[in-house]
Amino acid sequence: MIRTRFAPSPTGFLHLGNIRSALFPWAFARHHRGTFILRIEDTDQERSTPEATQAILDAMHWLGLDYDEGPYYQMQRIARYREAADDMLARGLAYRCYTTPAELDVLRASQLERGEKPRYDGRWRPERAQGMTPPEGVAPVLRFRNPDAGTVQWTDAVKGPIEIANAELDDLVIVRADGSPTYNFCVVVDDLDMGITHVIRGDDHVNNTPRQINIMRALGAEPPVYAHLPTVLTPEGEKLSKRHGARGVLQYRDDGYLPEAVVNYLARLGWAHGDAEVFSVEEFVGWFDLAGLTPSPGRFDPGKLEWLNHEHLKRMPAEAVASRLAPFLARAGIDTAGGPPLTRVVDLLRERSPTLVAMAEAAAYFYRPAVVDAAALASQLGDAGRAALRELVTEFVELDWSREAILAALKAAAARHRLKPGQVMMPLRLAVAGTPATPAIDAVLELVGRDATRARVEAALAA
Ligand code: GLU
Repeated sequence: MIRTRFAPSPTGFLHLGNIRSALFPWAFARHHRGTFILRIEDTDQERSTPEATQAILDAMHWLGLDYDEGPYYQMQRIARYREAADDMLARGLAYRCYTTPAELDVLRASQLERGEKPRYDGRWRPERAQGMTPPEGVAPVLRFRNPDAGTVQWTDAVKGPIEIANAELDDLVIVRADGSPTYNFCVVVDDLDMGITHVIRGDDHVNNTPRQINIMRALGAEPPVYAHLPTVLTPEGEKLSKRHGARGVLQYRDDGYLPEAVVNYLARLGWAHGDAEVFSVEEFVGWFDLAGLTPSPGRFDPGKLEWLNHEHLKRMPAEAVASRLAPFLARAGIDTAGGPPLTRVVDLLRERSPTLVAMAEAAAYFYRPAVVDAAALASQLGDAGRAALRELVTEFVELDWSREAILAALKAAAARHRLKPGQVMMPLRLAVAGTPATPAIDAVLELVGRDATRARVEAALAA
């Protein structure tokens, strides 16, 4: 049974690169009908906030990244970490170290002076501490007794084989002097307790992995499979961050992006299935495998995300788009009651609206009179144009109100006044929609309706 987890630290801003670390373990679990676990790593009490936790929960909910277990909170498992540490101490896998911070500073300075990498020298290791009396008044830390010889090796599912000499690793502090367990230790206890089979996470954790593997092996457990995802970069090649312009995940929701499109986009940022570009969440889950993960960093491209969003909007059934669009219309104060069916407006607008926000803006004139730019209208409208529009307002009363009949009437009016069709259509756009950029004017007028069209053209001519 596959068991994966997303283990975010709720310490700040959640951008798309962060939430991508949830998407892949989620997809892997779903593909294999396994279990996906959410674990909130909130032991950094200074930096963890309830707002950040809420943003994680909201973003996962919005994107449909549902979890089967959790959220577990590490702060609620402190007793368990202490118990595990005591057990390691009792079994000789960990030991009390009484080296004070001041002594560590001295050690560090002398190592640097000799050109060595600063590291704890193991002076309180059990075999060396025999006969040594613990100094008074010093609260000890608990250190893991790292193996001296050999190497730690694993085959990373993204990065391939990795090997680190144990000589490179010093004895990791697992419990601080104040009794609080350290980050790497909590992760190991949790990954073991939760039966995690595949750790899929950001590659900023690669350096922690050999330490975590050593502790697991000391506890007699086989480590899970590791897959370290490459970082997400900005278009300029910086690490994606708020400082470098990244937006919060939920900002995309508010800006009118579809969760399906964001999932599709994030999936492609570090994973590929042949040359598939536009796909559904179901297809993604069906195709997902670790072999498709790419070792090179992905670059966040806002234009591509918008393009994908547009593709999803174009492909989705009109009813579905309409129901997604409704809250954006409400937010813009647009009341659709009594106006044309929203599904028809969607069908007319979606070719030209890449987001729900853009579509809501463009939909406004179907439901309420537009603000007409009188100067722009006047510049489009000569005497002949004015006369053509006046005649049309009257003709519209009796006209069969269909696209075809409307178009024929517009063309005939233009011809009668020796105008090009555009010389009638453009002023009509400005008068009825308040903008020159609309879908085909005959389709627009059909949906706006006979009475509203006549009233708006009359008002514009009178202005
Ligand atoms: N809490 C860590 C982070 O947010 C992730 C740890 C892990 O996945 O092992 O970066």
